[in-house]
Amino acid sequence: MTTDCVYDICVVGAGLWGSAAAYHASLNPESKVCLIGPDEPKSKKCTGRTVFGAYYDEARITRQNVGNDTDAELARRSHQSFGILESETGMPFYTPCRNLNFGKIGSQYVLNSKRTSERLRLEHRVLSCSHLKRWWPYLCIGNSNEGVVQLSNCGMVNPRQLVSAQKQAASSQGCDIVTSIVDQINKKYDLENRHTILEVVTEDGHIIKSHKVLLCTGGFTFSKPLLPPHLMPDIRLALTQTLRLELSVKDVEKLRGMPTISAMSREDNLADCYMCPPVRYPDGKTYLKIGHGRLGYFGKREEVADWYRGDGEPQVTDRLKKMIQMYIPGLHPLSDHVDTCVVTATRSGLPYIDMITPQIGIAVGGNGVGARWSYEVGKIAAKMITKGQWDYDLPEEYFKVEFKKENISSRL
Ligand SMILES: Cc1cc2nc3c(=O)[nH]c(=O)nc-3n(C[C@H](O)[C@H](O)[C@H](O)COP(=O)(O)OP(=O)(O)OC[C@H]3O[C@@H](n4cnc5c(N)ncnc54)[C@H](O)[C@@H]3O)c2cc1C
Repeated sequence: MTTDCVYDICVVGAGLWGSAAAYHASLNPESKVCLIGPDEPKSKKCTGRTVFGAYYDEARITRQNVGNDTDAELARRSHQSFGILESETGMPFYTPCRNLNFGKIGSQYVLNSKRTSERLRLEHRVLSCSHLKRWWPYLCIGNSNEGVVQLSNCGMVNPRQLVSAQKQAASSQGCDIVTSIVDQINKKYDLENRHTILEVVTEDGHIIKSHKVLLCTGGFTFSKPLLPPHLMPDIRLALTQTLRLELSVKDVEKLRGMPTISAMSREDNLADCYMCPPVRYPDGKTYLKIGHGRLGYFGKREEVADWYRGDGEPQVTDRLKKMIQMYIPGLHPLSDHVDTCVVTATRSGLPYIDMITPQIGIAVGGNGVGARWSYEVGKIAAKMITKGQWDYDLPEEYFKVEFKKENISSRL
């Protein structure tokens, strides 16, 4: 399919950030916007599938009590807008609950969490181990630890539902949605109209023309020739896996009121993890989810798709099982399930939101926390690509892309 239609903006990647960007860009009735990206595969083992997304799950933690002020501000602004999007679309995706960060007394992690909570005036409490025990009797947190609890404006977003809501809202504003994978982007000079347009070529042979393209391609930004080879963002891709434990009705009841949890115990990084309280999944079962810090980075890009198709590393699964037993002893899971995923890490720890060429912009680098920023990152990226330059009240230097050093001549 090649049509004569030339879009103003084509967003590539229909994940958390791409769907948010398409929603924001299509708020402008003068912009003709298209969003291109594949849906989540029906089965994990889908051979031949070349790109995957980091949103294939039912729970992502959202909070503001760690990280730097920009990180927290992006999370705060996104959080403020969740309710509006939910009522606009009739699609609920946010569940409020408390957040607990804990670690060794006086550790950098706990100090950072306390200072951030105070500086940003978050509604919070600092709790000793014995207080933690009173609040959540089923948690087993050693005497040498203390916790910082964020009490409001935090909880969990359902990333699948958030993507669906943003796509639905974008579509109702006139954004065309194309369910396909982009194979390449070519620059073409339009002799008749005397300007350059971009041809976005999909794996199934469609050509979509656009004046500008915004890449929101997450961990698969490098898997296709979408960018000039000498302008590759400096991103590292980290392997992650999570373990879900299917809970009985009795165990779900026992964990009622459980907060989202992040544990950082630098003296023993085997104990570092995060946990999401029981969540109902599409199979009708309720699971408790646990994940770890970064395991390591991929050596080759080709390994990334295979990692998505795989079952993770058995020793990591065992470690996660031990951590659950350590922190919440006495659970009797009915089954367990491993999910594999990829974290896209930038040098700054903040997202790269930048124009790579006058016609191609990028928004990548979730750094393992990009769901909580997603609504606002989509807004920043949409404003930038619409104008062709920075158009937001936070300094653009924070979000400037850093490039890899290799220098090869450009096709675009
Ligand atoms: C295990 C795990 C747990 C996490 N937990 C949290 C959490 O608790 N809180 C939090 O805030 N964040 C969390 N995150 C991070 C969060 O999920 C990501 O930061 C977020 O999904 C990033 O959004 P994105 O749009 O950049 O990427 P994605 O959501 O991955 O979307 C990118 C999309 O681009 C598409 N794509 C790629 N290449 C192409 C192409 N060539 N053509 C068309 N489409 C393409 C992909 O199919 C995908 O749908 C977690 C991540 C992982 C892996």
